Amino acid sequence: MYRFKKDYCTALLQVLLLSGACRTKKTWPVSYSQEELRKRLTPKQYHVTQERGTESAFTGEFTYHKDEGTYHCVVCGAPLFSSHSKFDSGSGWPSFFDLLKEESITLSDDFSYGLHRVEATCSQCGAHLGHLFDDGPKPTGKRYCMNSSSLGFHPKDSSDDGASGSTDTDGKAEL
Ligand SMILES: [Zn+2]
Repeated sequence: MYRFKKDYCTALLQVLLLSGACRTKKTWPVSYSQEELRKRLTPKQYHVTQERGTESAFTGEFTYHKDEGTYHCVVCGAPLFSSHSKFDSGSGWPSFFDLLKEESITLSDDFSYGLHRVEATCSQCGAHLGHLFDDGPKPTGKRYCMNSSSLGFHPKDSSDDGASGSTDTDGKAEL
């Protein structure tokens, strides 16, 4: 009796593991029609996010963007990176050393162009974002090399935290 139960559990576990390992076609929680995306996105945004394209280095709007705020997936709006984890990698693409949430990006092997790279995809909608490399700064050592075309930016809402106050701008000499 007991033995049967144990075997059953082992078998069940194996099925679960196998189904996970054999998952080839992933479906995403959020999906949009190609038609809608073609209307809503610029041709460049569409090409990068839907056709796994890469924008030319040093051409993206967020490469040297330094404002405080949050970077989102341009397709579904899922928050991906904080401006605090952005750094100048010199690569010509916006680079981040950490994610807002570990699960917000799905990683997979990419063997295109005869290279082995790790592709970074939005976990919500499956939009192609860029690649992950292991040569980032401490403490994570990670470099999320993103396309500006995959990202939207929401500036930090100053009314969110009243720490520095709203009277700051008045009577303060500019340096
Ligand atoms: Zn998305």
